[in-house]
Amino acid sequence: MTTEMLGGMTDIRPQMIVAESPKHDLWHTALALLDDVAARLKLEPGIHAMLRQPERELTVSVPVVMDDGLIKVFTGYRVQHSSARGPYKGGIRYHPNVNLNEVRALAALMTWKCAVVGIPYGGAKGGVQCDPSQMSQDELARMTRRFTAMIMPIIGGRRDIPAPDVNTNAQVMAWMVDTVSMLERKAVMEVVTGKPVSLGGSLGRREATGRGVAISTEELLKRKGQHLSDTTVAVQGYGNVGSVAATLLHEMGARVVAVSDISGGIYNPKGLDIAAINKHVEAHPKRLLEGYAAPGVEKVTNDELLLLDVDVLVPAALEHQIHADNAPFIKAKMIVEAANGPTTPEADAILNDRGIIVVPDILANAGGVVVSYFEWVQDLQAFFWDEEEVNKNLHRIMVRSFKEVWDVSEKEAVPLRLAAYMLAVGRVAQSVRERGIFP
Ligand code: NAD
Repeated sequence: MTTEMLGGMTDIRPQMIVAESPKHDLWHTALALLDDVAARLKLEPGIHAMLRQPERELTVSVPVVMDDGLIKVFTGYRVQHSSARGPYKGGIRYHPNVNLNEVRALAALMTWKCAVVGIPYGGAKGGVQCDPSQMSQDELARMTRRFTAMIMPIIGGRRDIPAPDVNTNAQVMAWMVDTVSMLERKAVMEVVTGKPVSLGGSLGRREATGRGVAISTEELLKRKGQHLSDTTVAVQGYGNVGSVAATLLHEMGARVVAVSDISGGIYNPKGLDIAAINKHVEAHPKRLLEGYAAPGVEKVTNDELLLLDVDVLVPAALEHQIHADNAPFIKAKMIVEAANGPTTPEADAILNDRGIIVVPDILANAGGVVVSYFEWVQDLQAFFWDEEEVNKNLHRIMVRSFKEVWDVSEKEAVPLRLAAYMLAVGRVAQSVRERGIFP
């Protein structure tokens, strides 16, 4: 393509810029929580200051020739929050709302998540501000490849290992592996996790986050003396995480009464037919619940779903869905955070006051990164485990981590979120102390 052609084809329409309002800013939330925990742990001010700032931030421009021949320029990010405990690790998100502060916050969440489950990684996150629902597969492939090339200087199997997040999947990871392998002229399967199994992915990875959510729910119910068979569940978000969590909880005996996605929700107090719903979603061109109907099933909005009278609410969509306006009316007794940051700090305080137990995101949804860790270990050894081995080890780590967080919560008389952060921040701070400050 010549410069002349580029001049003729360039589309300079600005991409959507999303305002960063401090109140609903996930980074603001993450910092407030860190400050609180730092004070409780009496963290050295220097270490606290280090953890308040990502180690490295990269913003890249991602020009893509769209199918109509016009060039669109997307903005992409990779933020590396902490490498104190190992290589950076964290997903790549494609969404119109992606912005630097969101990516920063999600990167910090990854640092705490890896620490709370005791796997040897730091935290990072990436994303491209785009609307993948309006893009063809070819456009997504070109955008992914260009974005990968642009962040390649800072990623790598021993540096920073991306993975799927909202609107990215095994196919996107395969394009990333191929791009890095072509440019480095060698197979670099370990540069990302969440790959297709045929390309160095791990059995059980696709289901891992949802499986971890189901295990966390089971562990919580055990401690409350409640059986899964007497438990009703509502799940907001029916994507990779929400659909697997709903399916496994249903298989474990719980009554999943409501699920929803971007197209709206469905509710049946007697319990939904999850197998039939999964069939419907698989056949839907956009993998949505839209159009699903069955006797006894009523439609609910996403807002209504959050307020249903259930035992367990599983937010598995996006951040800040539970806020000061709906928290006072939530009827669920327990919330298991499958999504990252689904609860605002104001809502968290209200839920605590109301005695609603919240299993925090950094614990509840850590199953994904745990099996990503297994995938990376398998890639580095070029020796692959069967699914039973993967699930057994995931179960062991989730049960152990839940217990460790629960025990801190009891000992310190703090909610599970604070307990998880105290454990995680304490572990990261310990690594910083042991390593010392370079040079
Ligand atoms: P996904 O893109 O597969 O699914 C997201 C789901 O949320 C879809 O069903 C979508 O329709 C729905 N949704 C989007 N906006 C919504 C809205 N306003 N109301 C209701 N539903 C809405 O993404 P995913 O991988 O399942 O991720 C979901 C959440 O879990 C995110 O917060 C993500 O960061 C977190 N998470 C994902 C993983 C992983 O392994 N994929 C790991 C840890 C945490």
